[in-house]
Amino acid sequence: MTHNTSKIAQARAEILARIAKSANVANRPAEAITLVAVSKQQTVARIDSMVATGQRVFGENRVQEAQTHWLERRKTLQDMQLHLIGPLQTNKAMEAVRCFDVIETLDRTKLAVALVSAMEKTGRNPDIFVQVNTGEEPQKAGILPAGVDDFIANLRKNYAIEPKGLMCIPPAQEEPAMHFALLQKMAKRNGLNGLSMGMSHDFETAIAFGATHVRIGTALFGARIPR
Ligand SMILES: *Cc1c(COP(=O)(O)O)cnc(C)c1O
Repeated sequence: MTHNTSKIAQARAEILARIAKSANVANRPAEAITLVAVSKQQTVARIDSMVATGQRVFGENRVQEAQTHWLERRKTLQDMQLHLIGPLQTNKAMEAVRCFDVIETLDRTKLAVALVSAMEKTGRNPDIFVQVNTGEEPQKAGILPAGVDDFIANLRKNYAIEPKGLMCIPPAQEEPAMHFALLQKMAKRNGLNGLSMGMSHDFETAIAFGATHVRIGTALFGARIPR
């Protein structure tokens, strides 16, 4: 193993152990939590090393970068699952539906329309999560908490979209716990099981509040390369 490979394998083993421990504390099975390895702005060598560990679930926040990282690689990785965790423009819906297995950032009706049309045209049906802007930050994507119930009802009734869960990115400067608790409550009252929440610095808290998907980048791969 190269130095890079062993370092990444060790980082992943440590994160998986911390996930298992947090799950245990919360009285949940570790298998209930999926590690989404966020490979955005990482080097080819690090991504190859992560694939070599057996990690198969990855997250990317831009369509084009995801294609660069994964279109070729995934031809030999039939069991991999790619999550879109960044905002999606409607004009990229078709490419996103082709490239991703899970789209975590549905947050407006116009995008639902574009996704439904792309799914019909491609015959592909990625899982959908609804992104919620729990901190009501003007610069951040996601539907506002007050609109979540109506939005989900509308997806079900008019677009035949059954979301798998909710996703949030808490404000950087705040305690994440209240945001995770809020997302959990909204998912529960809407009958949704999936909760994509928790990143490198707060995934253990997220697991305590029921996270089913933790999205971890730097704690697995190391610091990102600036764009
Ligand atoms: C980049 C990113 C992550 C990973 O963040 P880290 O702090 O590096 O773990 C998680 N979720 C989203 C939406 C991201 O854009």
